[in-house]
Amino acid sequence: MQLRDLPSVDRLLGQSSALIDRHGRAAVTEALRTTLAGIRAAPPQPLPDAAGILSLAEQALTARARSNLRPVLNLTGTVLHTNLGRALLADEAMAAALAAMQSPAALEFDLDTGGRGERDSHLRGLLCELTGAEDATVVNNNAAAVLIVLNTLARNREAIVSRGELIEIGGAFRMPAIMEQAGCRLREVGTTNRTHARDYAEAITPETGLLMKVHTSNYRIEGFTKEVAAPELARIAHQAGLPMVNDLGSGTLVDLRRWGLAPEPTVAEAVAEGADVVTFSGDKLLGGPQAGFIVGRREIIAAINRNPLKRALRMDKIRIAATEATLRLYRDPDRLAERLPTLRLLSRPQAQIRAQAERLAPRVAQVLGCAATVIDCASQIGSGALPTDTIPSAGLALTPRPEALAERLRGLPTPILGRIHDGALILDLRCLPDDAALIDALA
Ligand SMILES: *Cc1c(COP(=O)(O)O)cnc(C)c1O
Repeated sequence: MQLRDLPSVDRLLGQSSALIDRHGRAAVTEALRTTLAGIRAAPPQPLPDAAGILSLAEQALTARARSNLRPVLNLTGTVLHTNLGRALLADEAMAAALAAMQSPAALEFDLDTGGRGERDSHLRGLLCELTGAEDATVVNNNAAAVLIVLNTLARNREAIVSRGELIEIGGAFRMPAIMEQAGCRLREVGTTNRTHARDYAEAITPETGLLMKVHTSNYRIEGFTKEVAAPELARIAHQAGLPMVNDLGSGTLVDLRRWGLAPEPTVAEAVAEGADVVTFSGDKLLGGPQAGFIVGRREIIAAINRNPLKRALRMDKIRIAATEATLRLYRDPDRLAERLPTLRLLSRPQAQIRAQAERLAPRVAQVLGCAATVIDCASQIGSGALPTDTIPSAGLALTPRPEALAERLRGLPTPILGRIHDGALILDLRCLPDDAALIDALA
């Protein structure tokens, strides 16, 4: 067969009804043209017949139809992986989000009076109930929460922060940069490892807008250290008639020790310690959709709600619905680990994960043609929570040539993501919902 004998696009289209049903005539025509042009530009030997050309076009169409935001298997060992989208939602939250997508909802409509309602009202009561705060408001994420709090309370004024807490969370979230965008001047006090009460007290001037405490989420300073605890910082602020803001980052609503995890400050504790405003994330330990929560004193929350930035940073109805359903789960802590995927994954016992690894090892070794050894490993919570505490876990160590294996697993239709450590590709099975998910992904 010669190049001039290649079938025409029109003739190929006549044999493409199944493809047209799936992808549409325009896309199939385009794919056939591109495929034919590719063959003409670099003719393979032998030249493909009509069926071969259709199959090449189908491959291109299938690749193009695949979602850009691909579901993956997170076997990295980091449960709340920011780059993999953090928390998975509870069934209740997904159902609520779906209902909000399918139907109009009384988002800003007061069904009692028939007048205008408030979008935050759906979450305010629950947040106050679960944190003990007087009032609450919500924005797009915790970075937005910090931004609007600083802008509301300290625009054109100074915010006093310890040098030990001037964190970078990752990406562009650096506390000094956020302060600048919020229009407030950063007044650093103390040193990297030690900050004293008098450092804060001596820095207060008529220019001061607030005192701030930032949870050093993703690192620990150890050794010769001193920080001023929240209750004392609140006292110093209040003596000067200033608000104290505590950015908890992850922040949890429950005592994690109950599930064998290391303690992380709860929001209720931070409120009880005298903070006037506490900020925290929705999609870290809390296990909901992306959100930023601001809880605290009524008049401060009211001022935040009047800030024009609030409109720019507000949450949409879908996430409000999912957030409300997630928060409701916290009313029944006894069943929380069953219903909230984040907690379910974090509290999976090592023995259970190891048994799963033992079941899967032979199959994985066979499919990949590599060695798969069952190992004990350590998972991390991720997203900056409890950075130095790991959770005993188990998984598979794949060898040899871990880089090549990692690349192969990333190339699967459902990519499998592990981590390379000590010359092996480690698949930490803590976040594997069931055996079938891995077997299907490998098939
Ligand atoms: C994670 C974090 C933030 C940012 O929260 P996002 O929800 O990711 O916007 C801010 N402050 C601290 C201390 C954090 O840990």
